[in-house]
Amino acid sequence: MPIYRAPVEDYRFLFNEVLEIEKHRDLPQFSELSPELVDDILAGGGKICEEVLHPLNQSGDEEGCRFENGQVATPKGFKEGYRAYSEGGWGGLGAPEAYGGADMPPLITMALTEMGMSANQSLAMYPMLTAGAYGALVATAPQWMKDAIVPKMVSGEWAGTMCLTEPGAGTDLRLMKTRAVEQPDGTYRMNGTKIFISGGDQDLTDNIIHLVIAKIPDENGQIHDDLSTVNFFMVPKVLVNEDGSTGARNGVTTGGIEHKMGIKGQATCVLNFDDAVAWRLGPKPEPLKPGEKRSSSAGMAGMFGMMNAARLGVGIQGIGLGEIAYQNGYAYARERRVGRALTGPKEPDKPADLEIVHPDVKRMLLQARAATEGLRALAAWTTLNMSIAQSNRPEAETAGLLADLMTPVIKSFGTDMGFEAANLGMQCYGGHGYIRDNGVEQFVRDARINQVYEGANGVQAMDLVGRKLGRKGGAAPMALFGLLTGWIAEQEQDAAMAPFAAGVKRGTEALQAATLWLAANGMKTPNDAGAAAADYLRLMGITVVALMWGRMAKASLGKDDTLHKDKLMCARYWMERMVPECPMLLERIQAGSAVIMELE
Ligand SMILES: Cc1cc2nc3c(=O)[nH]c(=O)nc-3n(C[C@H](O)[C@H](O)[C@H](O)COP(=O)(O)OP(=O)(O)OC[C@H]3O[C@@H](n4cnc5c(N)ncnc54)[C@H](O)[C@@H]3O)c2cc1C
Repeated sequence: MPIYRAPVEDYRFLFNEVLEIEKHRDLPQFSELSPELVDDILAGGGKICEEVLHPLNQSGDEEGCRFENGQVATPKGFKEGYRAYSEGGWGGLGAPEAYGGADMPPLITMALTEMGMSANQSLAMYPMLTAGAYGALVATAPQWMKDAIVPKMVSGEWAGTMCLTEPGAGTDLRLMKTRAVEQPDGTYRMNGTKIFISGGDQDLTDNIIHLVIAKIPDENGQIHDDLSTVNFFMVPKVLVNEDGSTGARNGVTTGGIEHKMGIKGQATCVLNFDDAVAWRLGPKPEPLKPGEKRSSSAGMAGMFGMMNAARLGVGIQGIGLGEIAYQNGYAYARERRVGRALTGPKEPDKPADLEIVHPDVKRMLLQARAATEGLRALAAWTTLNMSIAQSNRPEAETAGLLADLMTPVIKSFGTDMGFEAANLGMQCYGGHGYIRDNGVEQFVRDARINQVYEGANGVQAMDLVGRKLGRKGGAAPMALFGLLTGWIAEQEQDAAMAPFAAGVKRGTEALQAATLWLAANGMKTPNDAGAAAADYLRLMGITVVALMWGRMAKASLGKDDTLHKDKLMCARYWMERMVPECPMLLERIQAGSAVIMELE
């Protein structure tokens, strides 16, 4: 059975030595954050993930979810595991105290999310989706809903989902058909079908609060093939009264569950809405005037907030899968005996040396580790920026821009690297990795979905290039370049930091050249931007992770223990082995789109 040890030490290093959270006690949700409290949360969260979620991962994959007589059954042990997680208060870690949560900042909740995803992505997704849904309710719902519904979600008694996708509308939500018609009492009646809904049904909770997007028909009863009338709704599985009591079953039924490549313990459902009672969230949209077209609707703002949090969460899923795959590949390579070291036998008295003596095996493991730990640092820095953005500090606006810019990078680069790490971890097992009993091929299958849902990775790259770069006159990339060049100038003065500063500089120069090239060519030849997007996102990912490795190297210099020496090793690996991709990616971006567009 695969092993898992929560990376508590690594989080302590990041929090205390790199991000220095003690210096951020002025931020919202940080005032109570003593080192002891952070330690307790990391240790307690790590323990439940190691001891409760992880032992159910392989059996949950083998058994999968079942759909019988219109009911979903999760794998054996999931109910008990989910209950232990909820009763420990882990589901409400980031929720406001007013609703029963612990009000911890995203920096802390991200650590628990990552550990949960390593330990058991299928099971950990149920509370993660619930946290996304109650977060959206806190941001957009009327007070009665917050009082009657949110505490039950925070405690884990009820769960939540996010319902966007339809058979004909995944990436292109303009095409959705689900409609919601207003009733005299101010509620709506919803009709339509949503597919691929994670946690859409399960046997873990008494009620499920679905957050759904649907179109409000115009005065002629028509819905439009655009986003102008899309709105965001709360649709409970079991109706909830304003006093918090529950009523009859709502018109939401489960049409079936999908049979999937991975995350088999996670129920991916078809949901049918048949005159379901729905409550609109957020501001009431102005009715469309005859012939009027709008590119979006005010009602979508709440949904975007939830989707952004989910995108970051999925990037963290990639990091979690990378971590557990690395741990198992490393453990196996230190036990398996195969061949001899190229420089002569390391253990001549044994029939063969350990697998880990081989440079190619070390390469695979270092690739997985440097990517995972580098992206963990990037995600942690980004969540800290999210908190700074909510503060009164002068740098709040810049922090918000950077967090916004990094969201598609973490989602896409984080899940690409996570999938690669899962594959490399499995490769360390040779043929034994391909055999299900050993449990590591599951990481590859589970990690694969992270590149697809919450916006396919190519679509994230288009969001970065098409929206994020140009917003507010290019303020976000300018903020990033200011940060990178400032850091490089400072570190170049320090001889010990020179190799790391040189790596970050090489990435930054390629990224600046690519950004200028896109600014010059992307508008007049949109296909150039589209063809460059994935390479551009990877270039930005490698460069910002290089900055993270530079910062981690700085915190590790002159310290002689294994953790800090390993950090310096990984930092050097990133500069020597990943940063050289940057000029190559630039060249590919500058090649334009001509040959790509030849494919009919
Ligand atoms: C296991 C699982 C769980 C899911 N959970 C949820 C959930 O909880 N809630 C929910 O609402 N949805 C969920 N989804 C749906 C998921 O988010 C969509 O499948 C995904 O967004 C892609 O939509 P699609 O499948 O319709 O693919 P399409 O939209 O048909 O896209 C196909 C491919 O075309 C490419 N593409 C499309 N548009 C563009 C573009 N503009 N630029 C560049 N490339 C493009 C991409 O490579 C994409 O992969 C889940 C899906 C799965 C498989």
